[in-house]
Amino acid sequence: MEGKGKQMNHSYYGEYGGQYISEALMNTLYELETAFQDAIKDPLFLQEYHYYLKEYVGRETPLYLAGRLSEEYGCKIYLKREDLNHTGAHKINNVIGQILLAKRMGKKKVIAETGAGQHGVATATGAALFNMECTVYMGTEDIERQHLNVMRMEMLGAKVVGVRSGSNTLKDATNEAIRTWARTAEDTFYIIGSAVGPHPYPKMVKEFQKIISVEAKRQFLEKEQRLPDVVMACVGGGSNSIGMFAEFIEDKEVELIGVEAAGMGVSSGKHAAAMAAGKPGILHGMKSYLLQDEDGNVKLAHSISAGLDYPGVGPEHAFLHDTKRVKYVSVTDQEAMEALSILCKMEGIIPAIESSHALAYAFKKAKSMKKNQAMIVCLSGRGDKDAATIESYFNGEGYLN
Ligand SMILES: *Cc1c(COP(=O)(O)O)cnc(C)c1O
Repeated sequence: MEGKGKQMNHSYYGEYGGQYISEALMNTLYELETAFQDAIKDPLFLQEYHYYLKEYVGRETPLYLAGRLSEEYGCKIYLKREDLNHTGAHKINNVIGQILLAKRMGKKKVIAETGAGQHGVATATGAALFNMECTVYMGTEDIERQHLNVMRMEMLGAKVVGVRSGSNTLKDATNEAIRTWARTAEDTFYIIGSAVGPHPYPKMVKEFQKIISVEAKRQFLEKEQRLPDVVMACVGGGSNSIGMFAEFIEDKEVELIGVEAAGMGVSSGKHAAAMAAGKPGILHGMKSYLLQDEDGNVKLAHSISAGLDYPGVGPEHAFLHDTKRVKYVSVTDQEAMEALSILCKMEGIIPAIESSHALAYAFKKAKSMKKNQAMIVCLSGRGDKDAATIESYFNGEGYLN
């Protein structure tokens, strides 16, 4: 309900964000917010969160100066290696935070939505670690496309529920997860996988992902005794990017760039560039930029990377876009795949296709920078999960997803 959301000004980023959700969930969101605010002020909670990030996830992740890339493109290119986290991407940072909060609130079960399956795998992992019952909602179309991740979730003890409605993909799985949560919130915690959803989710996800820039800033200062000139990350729902930007937002001299997926090109209509081609609208409990048709119906997104294939973007990004603190650009499937191949061959790192979008723009941007300038690119995940897509793309067999 819009009215109630608006009374809580802190639930908005300018005109974006809010709690556009059924009355049945208002009290649950209020309890969640109270518990979250309480937890992040509790040193014991934070200690436990950092304990698991270090001992289980394997943080801190390196800030690696990519020597050959720097030489080739003409400025210092640092990679924040989120690909080295347990489960292969940044998503686990957020899952550990939310699941510890769930435990603190006395919940026994967790649910999650997933598209490509990456957030589902991270959630199933956390649920196994903390002995919680776990159900993951996934569109039936995605279940077919992402068989390996379905197997992983099941191996980890989670139940995967197929959602057959709408386009049978992430958007529909999210709707189903929200509906289920409204019925079961008494004993169930809903773990959202990106910086989206009703307040307080975008705030929580930022809080649990900001470790990326807390570390990166410290590491960069140690290595270079100054701030970076440019910081970049890819943007799906916006969680690795908000985590990568968080500690630099106040440093006005640092240029921040978010890279969306342009798919086959923004003018083709087959893309996921919500900021470049979307309009403000309401989806999944929030107001933000959304891909929609003339009648306001949410349009299907397209990207070769399943993790960027979302028709919206987190509300804080919408605000950072309008206030021009962050510049949002977009990169096509083809450009991302070329960048992926370059990183493999020049640095011996196979990146996720999502992360390759940030890399592709980094290579373009580097050409306009000076030799002593430096950028940090968030390498949000590793590419093992994408092996089949990469193979079929370079064999000219087109897309697997
Ligand atoms: C899920 C995913 C993304 C996109 O999600 P954000 O919330 O925008 O970070 C990017 N990279 C990888 C490796 C992912 O798994």
